[in-house]
Amino acid sequence: MVADNTPDSPNEQSDKMDVLKSTQTIVKIALEKLGYPEEVFELLKEPVRMMTVRIPVRMDDDSIKIFTGYRAQHNDAVGPTKGGVRFHPKVSEKEVKALSIWMSLKAGIVDLPYGGGKGGIVCDPREMSFRELEGLSRGYVRAISQIVGPTKDIPAPDVFTNPQIMAWMMDEYSRIDEFNNPGFITGKPIVLGGSHGRESATAKGVTICIDEAVKKKGIKVKGARVVIQGFGNAGSFLAKFLHDSGAKVVGISDAYGGLYDPDGLDIDYLLDRRDSFGTVTKLFNNTITNEELLELKCDILVPAAVENQITEKNANKINASIIVEAANGPTTLEATKILSDRDILLVPDVLASAGGVTVSYFEWVQNNQGFYWSEEEIEDKLHKVMTKGFNSVYHTAETRRVDMRLAAYMVGVRKMAEAARFRGWI
Ligand code: GLU
Repeated sequence: MVADNTPDSPNEQSDKMDVLKSTQTIVKIALEKLGYPEEVFELLKEPVRMMTVRIPVRMDDDSIKIFTGYRAQHNDAVGPTKGGVRFHPKVSEKEVKALSIWMSLKAGIVDLPYGGGKGGIVCDPREMSFRELEGLSRGYVRAISQIVGPTKDIPAPDVFTNPQIMAWMMDEYSRIDEFNNPGFITGKPIVLGGSHGRESATAKGVTICIDEAVKKKGIKVKGARVVIQGFGNAGSFLAKFLHDSGAKVVGISDAYGGLYDPDGLDIDYLLDRRDSFGTVTKLFNNTITNEELLELKCDILVPAAVENQITEKNANKINASIIVEAANGPTTLEATKILSDRDILLVPDVLASAGGVTVSYFEWVQNNQGFYWSEEEIEDKLHKVMTKGFNSVYHTAETRRVDMRLAAYMVGVRKMAEAARFRGWI
């Protein structure tokens, strides 16, 4: 066969970067592999509900700025929908829809009684004051209050949102609802009904996946060279956990660039110097680019930043044995194929990043029962859930001879499809 070297047209290029399209493609293949009829795909290819809101906020200079926000509820056959809210200038309707589907898949993989949801506001929180952020957070909750709630759809933190923002949102919802309602949102500060271990949960979940993945590849975490793209919530906690367990974190990056030291970076120093958005490289002159960082020689590569970082353009240059996706959607479909042909073990986002929503579930359960668990209890429960999730995906990949991403989608979509069938929807 003659290789097709024709460059992609701009349309083909943007299709490959279209996270919603690529998610739908794998959901379709997963459902076909599982033997579900076409109408199941028709139901699951888009969220069942999508709300767009306009949020007026009085800014510090007394002007009024109108922000656009979204909330997508992918599927509520299994239970209430659940998922974070991101504050980012690049938030779009399509991205929020894809993210809500990924949340459904995560809930399916780690077997939580939820469907997926996701929210986002187009804004740049790095350029907003505390007071403006509070106004925006409260305005968003007022705008979506009719479709959310502890038994309907439960928000949580995501990119550039944090426990303080969850606290404002919880307070606003409780005022609307006229009683204290901690189960409306997760990722809250501990004093407001937050859970021990929630802040570091995504990173903990990733380390549990790494522990399982290294066993399959015959590597040891102690002494392994690790590269982490992103130094936000997931990336920074992960760097700390891996550093503490004896791995050598040789590269990290933020939105502005990367740092590399073949002898291992001083993670404690970097954690001390990072700001609340994970920026640290601005303090250094000898930085590398994010592209260079991804191609560094290492044992474990963890993309923990944003979407579409590993594409068909750089997949052949990746120099790692294991990739664990702590971010949502960092690898395109074409790149997934290249990596799996190269026998790189890829632990996909919908599995690797499920630790956050798992501890969010524990937080919600604690809020509902009014009885709280210790950090050790949470860690123990998270460990059981993540190990089981990892092994069911790995087992599916082995027995059905599919790559880990497709296996994860097959495991993730099954519960939702079954629940919809039992309800008589399809
Ligand atoms: N935003 C996180 C995620 O993408 C956590 C969601 C949650 O805790 O509900 O998985």
